[in-house]
Amino acid sequence: MATTWKNWAGNQTARPLSISRPRSVGEVASIVSQAALLGETVKVVGSGHSFTGAAATNGRLLRIDALSGIRSIDREKLQVTVGAGTTLNTLNRLLAAEGLAMANLGDIAYQTVAGAISTSTHGTGTELTGLAAQVVALTLVTASGEIISCSLTEHPHIFEMARVSVGALGVVVECTIQAVPAFRLRASEAPFTLDSLLPQIHELAHEHDHFEFFWIPHTRWALTKRNNRTDDPLDPLPPIRGWIGKTFMENYAFGALCKVGKLRPSLIPRLATALPSSGSREYVNDSYKIFASPRLVKFYEMEYAIPAASVVPALQELRAMIERKGYLLNFPVEVRFTKQDDVPLSTSYGRDSAYIAVHVYKGMEKEPFFHDVESIMKTYEGRPHWGKMHYQTAQELRVLYPRFDDFIDVRNQIDPHRVFANDYTRQVFGE
Ligand SMILES: Cc1cc2nc3c(=O)[nH]c(=O)nc-3n(C[C@H](O)[C@H](O)[C@H](O)COP(=O)(O)OP(=O)(O)OC[C@H]3O[C@@H](n4cnc5c(N)ncnc54)[C@H](O)[C@@H]3O)c2cc1C
Repeated sequence: MATTWKNWAGNQTARPLSISRPRSVGEVASIVSQAALLGETVKVVGSGHSFTGAAATNGRLLRIDALSGIRSIDREKLQVTVGAGTTLNTLNRLLAAEGLAMANLGDIAYQTVAGAISTSTHGTGTELTGLAAQVVALTLVTASGEIISCSLTEHPHIFEMARVSVGALGVVVECTIQAVPAFRLRASEAPFTLDSLLPQIHELAHEHDHFEFFWIPHTRWALTKRNNRTDDPLDPLPPIRGWIGKTFMENYAFGALCKVGKLRPSLIPRLATALPSSGSREYVNDSYKIFASPRLVKFYEMEYAIPAASVVPALQELRAMIERKGYLLNFPVEVRFTKQDDVPLSTSYGRDSAYIAVHVYKGMEKEPFFHDVESIMKTYEGRPHWGKMHYQTAQELRVLYPRFDDFIDVRNQIDPHRVFANDYTRQVFGE
């Protein structure tokens, strides 16, 4: 029986024709071929953590959380094949039990493997790519119900496009991930003034394995996170301090400040001064425990990938625009970096990238601010995150991605009747 579907942030809703939870790849194939026969559409929902309508559908909605867990491990190559509905949280635990890890991750781990790669999800590190480029093979159920294995050697033209496809090429049912031996990170967190940070931003990004910062609008402060590989023994934050730092300060206390700011926006600049005071701290833990944190406060997000070399002028323009327009923002602006990759629709395709993310607390007005941010990012040839708010269309995106039309060619070839279409694919890829 169909019900209403909502994404995590609650800004996307849909009434699917039906919701199914296939338990096998064969079941996925039979649902897809039946839908195609009836002229219906199909969309997989991962964990619903996209802010765009990427997963929304009024056709058949598939949840593939039953396709979870490790299928096989190639110990020599450190390649691990998993069900595509495995969440990153589960994947991290399963890999750790095998002495393995993902080379890089974003800042949450609620997403499914397929959902994360489909929108070009990334973390930070100038020598590291986003998640899609860590995938070396995948199995896809296409619109005809065919189950195809693809990699650099099997159906390579489909493989390269299916790694970031916003679900428009078929249902990804298995992914083979290039893992690395498990490693520990030393996390160093410290506030800098934005003016002292900007002149050394590229050195900091290159000196540290994973560098990012959160600039607090209405203040001079930016909280930096510098995570580096280490052989030092585990030295995690003590449980109570860790809970206070990660869960209480970054979620409950922060959420309370956001609520006050929503009721009395004029207080936001004063409330913001409370944020960078979380101060400096250092700790050592398993990589995946450092990369991801709980996120309990709901918000809307826009994130743009721009050429890394443009990060300073883009941030200066953003800061000036916020001041000029008088926007009152109770969320930090997050800045990250990744190395270029060769995945055609990856936001880092062919260029080393800086990512600038802006957030608006759930329930507060976002449109004028996001439009203004997008105007700035467009002047830097910014590519929007496929899973985060933006207003770009196929016509504009075609110019930003040199291989956009190659992607459309593959789509025409394997999904000519647009079984995997929804309003969002019509917006970003055209009919
Ligand atoms: C709190 C929060 C923090 C975030 N942090 C980061 C971050 O650090 N870095 C970053 O880059 N992004 C981040 N994101 C964005 C998030 O990683 C992406 O939106 C991701 O796509 C969500 O994964 P999901 O499993 O929820 O997929 P969904 O949002 O459910 O789906 C995303 C797309 O993938 C498609 N899809 C899902 N499964 C399949 C499948 N099996 N086969 C084919 N298509 C499929 C869907 O149809 C849809 O088009 C964050 C989002 C939130 C809400």
